[in-house]
Amino acid sequence: MKLQTHRAFNFNAGPSALPISVLEKAQAELIDFRGTGMSVMELSHRSLAYEEVHNQAISSLKELLSIPDTYEVLFLQGGASLQFSMIPMNFLQIGKKAGYVMTGSWSEKAFSEAKLFGDVYHAASTKEGNYRRIPNVENVQYHTGDAYLHLTSNNTIFGTQWKDFPETGDVPLIADMSSDILSKPIEVSKFALIYAGAQKNLGPSGVTVVIIRKDLLEQANTNIPTMLKYSTHAKNNSLYNTPPTFGIYMLGEVLTWAREIGGLTAIAEQNDKKAKLIYDEIDASNGFYSGHAEPDSRSLMNITFTVKTKDLEKKFLEQAKQEGFIGINGHRSIGGCRVSAYNAVPFEACKAFREFMIQFQKDHS
Ligand SMILES: *Cc1c(COP(=O)(O)O)cnc(C)c1O
Repeated sequence: MKLQTHRAFNFNAGPSALPISVLEKAQAELIDFRGTGMSVMELSHRSLAYEEVHNQAISSLKELLSIPDTYEVLFLQGGASLQFSMIPMNFLQIGKKAGYVMTGSWSEKAFSEAKLFGDVYHAASTKEGNYRRIPNVENVQYHTGDAYLHLTSNNTIFGTQWKDFPETGDVPLIADMSSDILSKPIEVSKFALIYAGAQKNLGPSGVTVVIIRKDLLEQANTNIPTMLKYSTHAKNNSLYNTPPTFGIYMLGEVLTWAREIGGLTAIAEQNDKKAKLIYDEIDASNGFYSGHAEPDSRSLMNITFTVKTKDLEKKFLEQAKQEGFIGINGHRSIGGCRVSAYNAVPFEACKAFREFMIQFQKDHS
């Protein structure tokens, strides 16, 4: 008899849960990857076996997100955080400006980095009110001739998410989608560049996915280090230097899993149901729990809330931990509670957490 493996209710904000079937497959292939007699980690990144893994991951992503042929998919390193610098380095030309929509800590970090390279401004900000909402699309300001407009599609720390995006015409729209890429279908053609650290919805940390419109590559600044030019990686199919091979393999397996469970439409439906379980309980609690985000800006990925009093909240977090719910503490910068219900978090985990919330309220009212 096979022993039931212990799996935690993993609500970590990132790195976060991976699909169990992907982990099992990786385990099965670990020692002898498809007859090579070695693990993916031990393959040369110039070998045919690895090349297949690499190209498969690229084509799976293109297929799942319906990425047009006018875009390149790149696998980089340095996390989403290095993109905060690479974007202005490559695309903030002298004499041009770039707008940043400020919706939380990650937008602030992106903005601070860009300031080191050129002329940037706030295209909109919801800082007043502690980032409880996404600005109205009509209130996002940008100017014809701008180098680009940058936004963060899902705010992992504050728990807000864009529902639709500004139409920026000729101004390239750039989005940090680290925490909601692959959670629902998106219209890639609205964006000039999309980037995401893999460790939320895509795979393990160590890979950063960049989806970039090819014409943007040609307009990039040239006086920057080779490794920090998008064109270097585009020209070399992300094999200019050694890529994070194991991470890319895992990403490829996560993409295969995503396709097998029905693709992005099915995933979006499931995410909707998962988040609703928790938000409904917050709304039904008569103020025992309070959501941080305004209802029309709520994130389906990161659900942020507080408990009625600080004392009860402390107790809530302690008890959640005791009962095996991992990662419920809000980000160290804002406190409170946060449930991260990324793609690989099962519906049952959210259901169990909802029941815990209900019971805790009963016990403390
Ligand atoms: C996690 C996260 C980041 C930081 O990613 P790293 O890969 O750790 O650099 C940036 N932006 C968003 C929206 C995130 O969720």
